[in-house]
Amino acid sequence: MQLNPYGEYAVLLAASLANDWPADRNGIEARTREFGMTMGFTETDNDLGDTRNVIDEWLSIVDAETPEERARTLNAVMMSAAAYPRLVDHDDEGWHLHYRDENQSLAHVLRAVICVGTALHLTTRGMHRLRRCAAGHAPGDPCTNVVVDVTRNGRQRYCSVRCANRDAVRRHRAKSRPAEGGHRSRGPTQEVRVPGRRLSP
Ligand SMILES: [Zn+2]
Ligand SMILES: [Zn+2]
Repeated sequence: MQLNPYGEYAVLLAASLANDWPADRNGIEARTREFGMTMGFTETDNDLGDTRNVIDEWLSIVDAETPEERARTLNAVMMSAAAYPRLVDHDDEGWHLHYRDENQSLAHVLRAVICVGTALHLTTRGMHRLRRCAAGHAPGDPCTNVVVDVTRNGRQRYCSVRCANRDAVRRHRAKSRPAEGGHRSRGPTQEVRVPGRRLSP
């Protein structure tokens, strides 16, 4: 398979799997086709579970709190997943680079492709362009989706229009609600300001 210069579709594939986990192995393979992978995968006993582990590991890169932590986590994955780049030509794709060895199992290939794709994405677009949906930061909000920001301006914060709208409504309500004590403070309990008081020592 080919990683474009930005590693875009490998990282989008990872987010798609994280946000909408398939029910079975065929679902995972179908998803790789959707994102442009053409190669065949060697079947193993635990493709589903192994691929789930790859995605959980990737989520620890997503959830890293600083660029340094993100780089450290990603470097550790690349150290064990990626191989020296190799020039290959298969399935009429034309000559391209593989960042992995010959093991063709689903989880093995995805782990290498996703970590290298994520590294390319972060280094070319920016270390911050991978995060959880901002709507999910509000207490009680159910969204845990990952946002891969491939926008031109780099300001995508929500996984979907639905989440953006929900958060906008929430912020609007918070703004139109009177600030706590704001109204009552004008009542009789308000502390009386003594003119000139500030001048006293
Ligand atoms: Zn290939
Ligand atoms: Zn969301």
